[in-house]
Amino acid sequence: MKIGILTSGGDAPGMNAAIRAVVRKALYHNCKVYGIKRGFAGILNGEIVPLSSRSVGDILQRGGTILKSARCTEFKTPEGQAKAKEQLEKMGLNGLVIIGGDGSFRGAQILNRMGFLTVGIPGTIDNDIGCTDYSIGFDTAVNTVLDAINKIRDTASSHSRVYVVEVMGKNSGFIAIAAGLAGGAEAVLVPEVPYDLDAVCKQIVKSIKKGKAHSIILVAEGLMGDPVNMEHSSGFIVGKYIQTHTGADTRVTVLGHIQRGGNPTFFDRKLATLMGAKAVDLLLAGETEKMVGFVNNRIEVFSIDEALSTKAKINLEELELSNIMASV
Ligand code: ATP
Repeated sequence: MKIGILTSGGDAPGMNAAIRAVVRKALYHNCKVYGIKRGFAGILNGEIVPLSSRSVGDILQRGGTILKSARCTEFKTPEGQAKAKEQLEKMGLNGLVIIGGDGSFRGAQILNRMGFLTVGIPGTIDNDIGCTDYSIGFDTAVNTVLDAINKIRDTASSHSRVYVVEVMGKNSGFIAIAAGLAGGAEAVLVPEVPYDLDAVCKQIVKSIKKGKAHSIILVAEGLMGDPVNMEHSSGFIVGKYIQTHTGADTRVTVLGHIQRGGNPTFFDRKLATLMGAKAVDLLLAGETEKMVGFVNNRIEVFSIDEALSTKAKINLEELELSNIMASV
């Protein structure tokens, strides 16, 4: 069997570990493996390289993706898809593994429907994919945020300041909620839950009266405003409101792309290795239109359709618990 692999959409730490797992599991089963560069753009441009066990050596611990990633609008058009079909036929691949977010899964589904055996692996720091508790890169991104919060706490308590920390999550609050719970935020504001900035201000004033040395407010970038325009990002809007309405010395930190980089954690390496190996098993079994998920600490298989039509839900109990921890 000739298996192709690509990474698409936003990169996520652990994608390299998944590439390594796919390559080595496939070689173990005497398959040939090819890397397609720059996601769907690489299919259109015929950017394909053979991968050996050595070419995936020393990448397990590295962030980013050795295959590069890209957003490819041409692939969304019927002309682009016809070109992709032609190129894939030329490449002579019998199976494809696509690592990425829900956009990449839509692309995978199109390839499936064209008759190419394709399996998806969820790789996005946002964790916003249905049918899996975790996607590759989320755990590392949350740990990066926690590391930043630890450092911000040092300076925040030295100056008795309020720090608004904006984290990634355009449409979802997974990173904010996880980091809020484990990082001890005074409040966590996410796109899925209506926000009340006056209540946040009240909470800050209350905690200052109680003698707390600092307050950390976590805001998901997609809460409001315009994440591309820093002055109008969610973090700055919230920070300005707090400063004006509480009078507290307030600072804003937008963590931005540092959340995408870094060495994957144990959890992301394990997840990526289990998922990569399972994807190869599925291709060898001739299974198509499938995605590999991780549910209740086990690898599970779902149809891509189901993954795309199931909304990944934030854990409201965790958000509530985070608020309880801050309230007393
Ligand atoms: P992330 O959410 O982490 O950024 P993603 O996979 O959702 O990852 P997108 O930019 O949405 O990122 O999608 C990646 C690529 O998948 C797109 O550039 C495009 O090539 C392909 N793709 C996305 N949506 C579709 C679609 N509806 N039809 C065909 N291809 C698509």
